[in-house]
Amino acid sequence: MDLDLDERTLAFRDEARAWLAANVPAEPLKSFDTAEGFAQHREWECRLADARWSVVSWPREFGGRDASLLEWVLFEEEYYAAGAPLRVNQNGIFMLAPTLFSHGTEEQQRRILPKMARSEEVWAQAWSEPEAGSDIAALRSTATRCDGGWRVSGQKTWSSRATFADRAFGLFRSDPDSVRHKGLIYLMVDLRAEGVTVRPIPQLDGEPGFAEIFFDDVFVPDQDVIGAPGEGWRVAMTTANNERGLSLRSPGRFLAAADRLVSLWHDAGRPAHTADRVADAWIGARAYQLYTLGTVTRLSDGAELGPESSVNKLFWSHLDVALHETALDILGPDAELRGAWSDGWLFSLAGPIYGGTDQIQRSIVAERLLGLPKGAR
Ligand SMILES: Cc1cc2nc3c(=O)[nH]c(=O)nc-3n(C[C@H](O)[C@H](O)[C@H](O)COP(=O)(O)OP(=O)(O)OC[C@H]3O[C@@H](n4cnc5c(N)ncnc54)[C@H](O)[C@@H]3O)c2cc1C
Repeated sequence: MDLDLDERTLAFRDEARAWLAANVPAEPLKSFDTAEGFAQHREWECRLADARWSVVSWPREFGGRDASLLEWVLFEEEYYAAGAPLRVNQNGIFMLAPTLFSHGTEEQQRRILPKMARSEEVWAQAWSEPEAGSDIAALRSTATRCDGGWRVSGQKTWSSRATFADRAFGLFRSDPDSVRHKGLIYLMVDLRAEGVTVRPIPQLDGEPGFAEIFFDDVFVPDQDVIGAPGEGWRVAMTTANNERGLSLRSPGRFLAAADRLVSLWHDAGRPAHTADRVADAWIGARAYQLYTLGTVTRLSDGAELGPESSVNKLFWSHLDVALHETALDILGPDAELRGAWSDGWLFSLAGPIYGGTDQIQRSIVAERLLGLPKGAR
């Protein structure tokens, strides 16, 4: 990839930078794990959408700017550098949307994407079940054929932001005689439909960042099936590769945090015992940026995201933990008082778990990329 940006790309970046400088709220929004914060984030998403900065890489007809993937990466860098709010609809924008672009019908794209771009509909991911987290193919929630659609029953868990979200996407077993990856269906479900119960799960801080979702004979119309019934696993792999491989965690997030870490280190009088780790985190963020630009080049040349997404996920989740641990070491006992770093550290600890745990990513790398024999199951 040619890293000298052309005029058009530079103009795009300047426009984004100027808009963010003029519009990012001066005071951070409240956490989107609270009702008030969730509402504030919806408002922010609307403002982004009005200025066409919500989904820059999408086609214009759905609210985007037809931006290239490179422009998207640059936009994200500007977004995080400006300290803009985290995206409340990230599951929708970064996971469901790429799935709909690959597998959705035109009708689904027209009906769902514009509302997603404005966060008029905020989406939750309803994949994990009590007995099916790492081993998602063990899922037991069912979808049974009925007139005009499907009847859904079962339980999902650990669904981020489902407490306040509007809709959820998830996998259900549509063929009762099937096992494992076969006979699954990928559905979009209205969380306010009759038969749905969303039970918040409080986190350490007491806020309901997660929820369990119970489905009791919930009707889902045919228009909300993505891909063919029975083909749910294939559709789900598009979602998972996006979660791990590109869109959910762009380099901008880590570049901004690494720059803040370097400033923190200078402000703290350059403590020598942390110098190597500060440098490693800064280099790691830049290495991730360069790797992502390589991925963007391959995707722009027609390649698809595959199991190498797991390498990506291992890299950014460990980078995030190391970066925040270094910040806490620099701050020492003051860390407790500097909320943003300790909050960031607590969240970083979840990185090696959500989107598939480290152990699972390592098995994928070993078996599918390196061709090593399958381990015992
Ligand atoms: C912050 C956060 C947000 C999340 N958000 C969502 C969400 O929005 N939607 C959603 O559906 N889920 C969500 N999850 C759930 C997440 O996807 C699961 O926690 C994860 O997939 C692990 O599943 P589990 O918790 O059932 O653990 P388990 O699968 O029970 O794993 C327990 C331990 O055993 C190890 N293990 C299991 N199987 C193997 C194996 N075959 N080989 C080696 N080791 C193995 C695991 O690596 C892990 O260390 C979220 C989780 C977190 C922490």
